[in-house]
Order: sequence, then C-alpha cells, then structure tokens
Amino acid sequence: MPYLLALDEGTTSARAILYNERGEALAMEAIPVDSRYPRPGWVEQDPEQIWSAQIETARRVLAKAGITAAQVAAIGITNQRETTIVWDRRTGKPVSEAIVWQCRRTAGYCGQLAAAHGSKITAKTGLVVDAYFSGSKIRWILENVPGARPKAEAGDLLFGNVDTWLIWKLTGGAVHVTDSSNASRTMLMDLETGAWDDELLSMLEVPRAMLPRIVPSSGVVGETAALGAAIPIAGIAGDQQAALFGQACFRAGLSKNTYGTGCFALMHTGGKRPVSRNRLLETRAATIDAPQFAVEGAIFIAGAAVQWLRDQMGLIQSAAESEAVALSAPNNGGVYLVPAFVGLGAPHWDSSARGTMTGITGGTTKAQVVRAALESMAFQTRELIEAMEADSGDKLAELRVDGGATANNFLMQFQADILDTRIARPADKETTALGAAYLAGLAAGVWKSTAELEKFWRVERVFEPSMKESERQRLWEGWRSAVRKCRA
Ligand code: ADP
Repeated sequence: MPYLLALDEGTTSARAILYNERGEALAMEAIPVDSRYPRPGWVEQDPEQIWSAQIETARRVLAKAGITAAQVAAIGITNQRETTIVWDRRTGKPVSEAIVWQCRRTAGYCGQLAAAHGSKITAKTGLVVDAYFSGSKIRWILENVPGARPKAEAGDLLFGNVDTWLIWKLTGGAVHVTDSSNASRTMLMDLETGAWDDELLSMLEVPRAMLPRIVPSSGVVGETAALGAAIPIAGIAGDQQAALFGQACFRAGLSKNTYGTGCFALMHTGGKRPVSRNRLLETRAATIDAPQFAVEGAIFIAGAAVQWLRDQMGLIQSAAESEAVALSAPNNGGVYLVPAFVGLGAPHWDSSARGTMTGITGGTTKAQVVRAALESMAFQTRELIEAMEADSGDKLAELRVDGGATANNFLMQFQADILDTRIARPADKETTALGAAYLAGLAAGVWKSTAELEKFWRVERVFEPSMKESERQRLWEGWRSAVRKCRA
C-alpha cells in the first residue's frame, strides 16, 4: 500500500502527517517553531530551527506509524507563505533570520513603492503593494546584511520561501525550486505568465540569479535521502492554496475559509486570471498542468483575537472556553471589537488602523467582549465574501471551512447567519497537509485525477443560516459603524 507524507510548515509549528491511498491520515506529529519580535512590528524565525523541527516531525511520524521511508510513495510540502530566507549557496548557511510574513519592517519602503509604481505592480502581480509579500523582504536583507548584495549579484546567495528552503535542505542542496502558488506571493512574478518579471526585479532591486526555478505544484522535483531511503518530492503549494486543494475546491466558484491565527478566504476562479475590483488579492491556485487561479482575502487577526483574550486580557483560560463564555451572553449587547492589532487587511488594506472596541457601557460583561471577539471573525469574513461576490457577480452557495477556530460551533453558526450562506465543515480538518499529500499523490500516480479525490471530501457538519434578516442587518450595520470608527 503506498503512503504519502505531507510536511506542513506553518507559522507556529512544523507538522508531518502520513496518509494512505484513501486520503486518510494515519499519524500526525507537530513541533513548535519560535517567533521572535526584536522590535515593534518585526517578526523573525530561525531557518535552522524550521528545518530541524520539520525533519524531526517527519522522522517521528514514520516511527509512530511503523512505516519505513521505502514505503512512502512521495512527499508533499506546504508552507507558511511569503516568509523570506536568504542563504549562502556554498555553505548552506542563512545570512540572516527568516523574515516572517507578518513582519512590517518594510512598510515604509512599500509605501514609497506603492506611490511610485503601485498600479503597475498590482496589474502585473495581482497583489496590493504591501510589506506582507516577499519582494521587499528580500531587498531588505540585501540592503542590510553586509556584503549580501554583491554576493547575490554574483549568484552566491539563494532566496527561498519556506518550501524552497526545505526542498534545498531535503535534497542536500541539489534542488532550488518553488511552485507557482508560492511564487505568486513574492511580488516578483507575473501572475499571468507565471515567470519572474525583469521589470519587477529591477524595481525591487532583486537579482534574478538568487531566485528559484518556478515549477508546477504537482510533479517530481527531486528526491530526498534524509529519511533513510530515497523518496520523491512531488507536491508543493503555499498553505492557503494547499488548503483550497485539500478542500477539493478544484473548480471555479468553489471556496474555502481557514480560521487560524488569521483568516484566509480563497475562491477558485478556474484557468483565467481573475481581476478584483474590490481589493482582493489575485493569486495562483495549486497547479497540476494548466495554470489555475484564485482570488483571496486575508484577515490578519482572527483566532489571534481569542489568544489575546486569553493571554493579554485573561478573560478566558483556553481558546475552547470562548464558546461557552460567549454563549452565556444572549447577544453582544451592542459591543463590537475590530481587532485591527496590526492594521486591517483585505478589503481595507489600512496599515495605520488599530484595534477598537465600541458600544461599551457600564453594564458590558466579559461574556459580551468574548462574544464580540468571536463575532469579529465572522464579520471580517463577510467583508471578504461580499468582495468576492461583487467581483464574480454570483452569490456563494456554500463556504467550506477549516482551521483551529472552526471547532467553535457558536462561531460557525454565527458565520452562517451573518453571511446567510451554508457553512460546511469537513471531517478532515487538516486540509492544508491533505492538499499537499493530494498534489504529491497525483504526481506519484497514487491517484489518476482530481475526480478521484473529490470522493474523499466528507462533510462532518453543516451550519444552515437561521437568523432573521432584520437581525442580520442590525448586526451588520453595527459592525460597519465600528469599522468606520476604527479607521477614523
Ligand atoms: P495556525 O495554523 O494559524 O497556527 P490553527 O488552525 O492551529 O492556527 O488555529 C489556532 C487558532 O485558532 C488560535 O488563534 C486559537 O486562538 C484559535 N482557536 C482554537 N480553538 C478555538 C475555539 N474553540 N474557539 C475559537 N478560537 C479557537
């Protein structure tokens, strides 16, 4: 029986999951990865720790399942996107810490870049010019690490997102590639052609010599001997595109929302490049052969607001407790929390906004504040879905969900109510890793087509909207008013 090994390197942990040919998870291992915050708004990780945590989870998961490397048909890799690593081609040593996607250190530069070239960059890349993407982070390393720029120009330094770094390590430095879903988040790739763009490279002052080769998301790119026997590396996708694939959203119109630290809603738009008139990101979906596209809305603070209630405010003991506490209040009592802790992402893209709570009275309770934090995830999601519906001209029939906070039934019901859309929660919630396993399994011949994979997608619970329209309207107005105050 062939097995597939998914390596899922997320922001907070590296995970490895082993799957069988029915797409069933047999064993999972996770090891936390530390983030450092050396200055306000800066976020870094240690590339060596990312690698050692990831390879250790792979070893452990094989041992746990009692499977040898020789029984693994292929490895699929999925990763926190945009996080930027630059290393020395000869020594294999990173020249700096990894600059994590959340890091705002290049916000000032991006402001200037947007003013000078914003519309051109958006037209080419489908992205809003922002510090979030890799391009300005690469430039920062070249400008700030002594000697880095001339070495990069001479081809002695390599750039990679976490996928590229892991594959380079797994292959002992033999393979330097990325897939088009990751490359579409660098702000250096032409979204339409799927190739690095010379004009963008020169605007951002990034030498072509340091960039990986862009490959499809499904296909053998090399082999690793790091686990005891040679295993082909056959799938690569950024975490959100992998989750879209793992949710069996293979066709235009299908969409998913992931509720983790942030929220990421993606709608597949098929083989044609989408155009967003509502400030969503246009991006590559996981690609087998012909290019596939998606529109994406990113919210920076979702489950992180629940962590804030727990760790900073001390209002709850655990994230799971937020459900019972929220339900102990019959309603939000007019309290709205806009968790713009690091600014607002799509569709506002307002980096100067900061968190705001409105409607507080002497009678406001802890339960109402907790409830407002959970509701904020649903309201922010509605902003994204409305933008997607406006772009596509169609009402969404169903939203597939995944991520840690989907365990919260109150949140899921409130989401269905506030969207007036059916929410479908699948049995397998580790859709990111599953998507990577699917991409690898297709390339390794374990599965013949995506039609086979569609049958693996099983719903665990559906949440149907049941709120009165007048109530929905009232709550939505309350949220919109809170966002206006936050932005003012
Ligand atoms: P990530 O992949 O971004 O690390 P996960 O998908 O593991 O995130 O989800 C973790 C996030 O979900 C945390 O921010 C946590 O606060 C939130 N979370 C977990 N369980 C619940 C719950 N029952 N209710 C609300 N939020 C939750």
